[in-house]
Amino acid sequence: MSTLSISDIYNQTFFTLVDQAHQVHKANFGTDIELCKLISVKTGGCPEDCGYCSQSNKYETEIKFNALLPIEEVERQAILAKEYGVKRICMGAAYKSPNSSALAKACEYIKVVKKHGLETCATLGSLSLDQAQQLKEAGLDYYNHNIDTSPEYYPQVVTTRTFQDRIDTLDHVGQAGMKVCCGGIIGMGESVDDRISFIRALTQLPYTPDSIPINTQVKIEGTPLANTEKLDKLELVRTIATVRILFPKTRVRLSAGRSELSELEQSMCFMAGANSIFYGEQLLTTPNNDQHEDLLLLKKLGINTHVSVA
Ligand code: SF4
Repeated sequence: MSTLSISDIYNQTFFTLVDQAHQVHKANFGTDIELCKLISVKTGGCPEDCGYCSQSNKYETEIKFNALLPIEEVERQAILAKEYGVKRICMGAAYKSPNSSALAKACEYIKVVKKHGLETCATLGSLSLDQAQQLKEAGLDYYNHNIDTSPEYYPQVVTTRTFQDRIDTLDHVGQAGMKVCCGGIIGMGESVDDRISFIRALTQLPYTPDSIPINTQVKIEGTPLANTEKLDKLELVRTIATVRILFPKTRVRLSAGRSELSELEQSMCFMAGANSIFYGEQLLTTPNNDQHEDLLLLKKLGINTHVSVA
């Protein structure tokens, strides 16, 4: 790892930072991009108050509530995604914490997806150690629980669960033997120092994440953070590059907000170390990039997806 401080790394001249990140990336990964498919297995009605989220029941948004999906529907979507070359299915449900019947259903989803030889990830809210162990026993490979932002800026974003609550869940995930997927969202009005502090917090998690999603805030009408200032895209590249340098062996996922990036902006993010994307035209509730355009872009860049482009 670099001997520079995180702030020194982040604030280097842009090309020095990107060059360093690219060298780290090349030394640890090939030119492939991991394709993941996100399925919202239960949408809306969440009691948490995350200020960016359309699924919170505290805000009036256009999201329609959807109860847990039938197993057959999850299996159908997983089979389709596999045909498109997806390797991992991420299942998201809007909960503070899953109750016992939701957890049992999640275990069924995991088993049916694993049956098709796919990796599984779930994001269901806070977990006790016992809940994490049940998911592990069902075969869950990854659990996603984001810290969202810096510990300092966090109270501006969420008040219904603490930063420490999130760390506790991540600790339970690691203790249960699952891989940790943990990242956050930038462009929520935080400062550069907050972004650096967010990255520092990632380095201090109880278990090193195997997957770090970096999202940019998608502004949702009706949420408290709908009117935050537009993020300078170079800040996104700086964040990805700094994460890549500090986590040389972790998949860094260019996640929500990617549909608002041009081909060149996405390419810059890949050069800076992003090597995972959500594939498919819908994220949990926000739009994602057109699949065909994605494959064409990756083909133009010479990135291996193991998917044939028509
Ligand atoms: S981000 Fe997750 S926990 Fe927060 S309100 Fe949305 S669904 Fe609920």
